[in-house]
Amino acid sequence: VRATKGGEEVRGYVPSMGQIFLRRFQMVTQFRQSLEDGQVSVHYQPKITLPNRQVQGVEALVRWVHPEFGRLGPDEFVPAIEAAGLIGVLTSFVLGEALKRCRKWLDEGLRISVAVNLSVRNLADEDFPNKVARELERFGIPPELLTFELTESGVMSDPQKALPILRELHSLGIVLAVDDFGTGYSSLAYLRQLPVDQVKIDKSFVLGMGTDLGDLAVVRSIVELGHSLGLTVVAEGVEEDVARDQLEAMGCDVAQGYLISRPLPEDRLEAWLQARTARSPGRHSETVLTL
Ligand code: C2E
Ligand code: MG
Ligand code: MG
Ligand code: MG
Repeated sequence: VRATKGGEEVRGYVPSMGQIFLRRFQMVTQFRQSLEDGQVSVHYQPKITLPNRQVQGVEALVRWVHPEFGRLGPDEFVPAIEAAGLIGVLTSFVLGEALKRCRKWLDEGLRISVAVNLSVRNLADEDFPNKVARELERFGIPPELLTFELTESGVMSDPQKALPILRELHSLGIVLAVDDFGTGYSSLAYLRQLPVDQVKIDKSFVLGMGTDLGDLAVVRSIVELGHSLGLTVVAEGVEEDVARDQLEAMGCDVAQGYLISRPLPEDRLEAWLQARTARSPGRHSETVLTL
């Protein structure tokens, strides 16, 4: 953290509670306008299948370039937006952007799925599944090309409320994933009761698996557990080729991380896809990684 105090730069400066509060207050009151002003955008991070390394889909990750605060990561503003009751606005923006992108690919003959992160507060909105169904219809997107990612702790915090909504989304044909798996308190038995198709192993374990035998054991058991429950297993935080090779050897289905690509703005994602995919004529649905 940097700041200036009396004209002199001070490192390791920690903002006061008042400043944090003010910043959050500004974020919340300015959020809607910032959407209109184009300060908020969606970056996309590709995921590849293992072992054949084809593009399986992209995850939509929200970004905010604030005129005063600069680049803000979702970890900084999503909690404030949630607390202010504005998560519906954020989710519908990200969903709309992601579906628009997916539509563009379909028109180009590419079937690339898009994943959108949900907040548990989205599941408190009983009309949410209807809204999503209308959006899918508006863009003409097959529901299986949309994935919703929900953190384990999110679903766990109010399962009574979340479960019926999740079932409704699932029955629409949308793919459901448990994000950051391994960090919460879910038991094996609990996961079995959720209408989910995917587990995403939390990046902390994937990042640590090269040096920490405990992390390696956690990753291995999530892959086995996931498969025994018939789920697709995704590893996030794949930064090294050693990790990718280990995951591949364990039978992990999908990899995502800086090794494959960082989250990219739309135009750079297009370039990434073009550089790495060969579109075979007549076989439009296939995206082949030529890496
Ligand atoms: P997440 O859904 O678990 O997303 C993965 C995060 O890990 C992203 O951070 C991504 O940039 C980062 N990441 C990806 N690959 C690597 C890697 O190889 N190494 C490391 N160290 N990190 C990697 P990001 O974009 O800052 O997002 C943070 C969290 O914010 C997300 O975690 C998600 O929970 C939340 N979020 C992002 N976009 C949205 C959104 O549109 N709506 C909601 N409700 N939450 C969002
Ligand atoms: Mg996610
Ligand atoms: Mg995650
Ligand atoms: Mg996370």
